[in-house]
Amino acid sequence: MVIGAGAAGIAAGRRIAAAGRSVAILEARDRVGGRCLTDTVTFGVPMDLGAHWIHAPADNPLVPLARAAGFGLYDDAARQRLVIKGRNPREGEWEAFASALTRTQRAILEAGEAGREVALSEVVPGDLRDWRPTIDFLKGPWDSGKEMGEISCVDYYNALETQDMFCRQGYGAILAKLAEGLPVRLATAVTRIDWSGRGVNVETPAGTIRGRAAVVTASTAVLASGAIRFAPAIPKRQLDAIQALSCGAYEHLIVHLPDNPMDAKPDQAFVVKADTAATAKALARIGGSDWWYLDIGGRFARDLAAAGPAAMKAFAAEFIGNEFGPHARRAMGDVHVTSWTTDPFIRGAWSVAGPGATPQRLRLAEPVGQRLAFAGEATDEGLWGTVGGAWASGERAADQVLRWVAPPAAPRRRR
Ligand SMILES: Cc1cc2nc3c(=O)[nH]c(=O)nc-3n(C[C@H](O)[C@H](O)[C@H](O)COP(=O)(O)OP(=O)(O)OC[C@H]3O[C@@H](n4cnc5c(N)ncnc54)[C@H](O)[C@@H]3O)c2cc1C
Repeated sequence: MVIGAGAAGIAAGRRIAAAGRSVAILEARDRVGGRCLTDTVTFGVPMDLGAHWIHAPADNPLVPLARAAGFGLYDDAARQRLVIKGRNPREGEWEAFASALTRTQRAILEAGEAGREVALSEVVPGDLRDWRPTIDFLKGPWDSGKEMGEISCVDYYNALETQDMFCRQGYGAILAKLAEGLPVRLATAVTRIDWSGRGVNVETPAGTIRGRAAVVTASTAVLASGAIRFAPAIPKRQLDAIQALSCGAYEHLIVHLPDNPMDAKPDQAFVVKADTAATAKALARIGGSDWWYLDIGGRFARDLAAAGPAAMKAFAAEFIGNEFGPHARRAMGDVHVTSWTTDPFIRGAWSVAGPGATPQRLRLAEPVGQRLAFAGEATDEGLWGTVGGAWASGERAADQVLRWVAPPAAPRRRR
């Protein structure tokens, strides 16, 4: 039994089915993909509403699978641009920004490599002056969905980082394709898992389903909310890990900007010089279209998502006017916003370990009573917070479960 049909659940389901065992994947929503979803209807181009950057392509198990399935992957090659209140940087400003960013990155990585379980905010160089709010935003809310004081240098260091890629058809489209043919029961929210007996009894509004073991892939925010009850309660070790690996917040405000008012290259990132945490980073002309992401994160994103779509759209308009100028504001058309933070089956962005909490990732992944295996992005050490990490964790959990059940019968010979 697999709970959740996001990346981890799809990977686990495929692995169990490939081993010749029967599997049921129970998904609360009426679609697969979880936090990795491509909208192919609204924008005239495939638009990722959740994950979009294919991180760490060399280590990402989805890259070879996507290529084999014929998806078009390409490098995130365009150099990012810096904009300061509607103008290009003057001489020396780009260098000052790049130096502040590089020195901060180096300080975080050095602390992480040395195993110092301290917050990112503890190691930021003290002389960033008016670049500090921009760096705080980029290394905290934009990179990780939390403030710098809530992120461990070791967790940050562990995250594998190389140049990212994009998928022409959308990252979510890859998952939808890889889920084809799997026995997914949609609109089946699990409310309780009874693992007191030999197997598991999984309760849903449609009835109780019995299985030998369960792979649980719901986000740590969903698990912490108590939306899925366990009988008996799961061990304190896993409960503590779920609490320690809480999810941050990250949302896309997807803005239509026809006529390319910023003279942007396709898929080019725009950093604005920030004064406060109420800011965004932009990704221009997604896949060559006229649609842009304005990405917000951390406490600001959580508050704005709670305030609702109208407040999010108002921020997008204000941001475009203030940061890109009145000509860009005039060009601006429709805005669509995501709401992962308020989605009852997600409740945040992705897990982030605070100082001291990095070892909790492996603890959450420890098998429970040969009946429960937790998977999902939170349980991967090197690709945490990513689709690739979720996929790898699903495969690992499936291998675990397969070791608990008897090996499949040898195939019968055809007569
Ligand atoms: C806005 C945003 C941008 C992101 N950008 C990137 C990016 O660019 N690159 C990247 O690699 N990652 C990115 N991420 C993170 C990435 O999307 C996740 O790490 C990954 O998709 C998590 O997969 P998962 O299988 O662990 O969990 P999920 O995708 O959350 O899957 C869990 C599934 O369980 C289901 N579920 C929950 N409760 C129940 C229940 N009670 N019963 C049954 N089913 C249930 C959910 O509906 C969901 O489908 C982003 C995330 C967000 C929100």
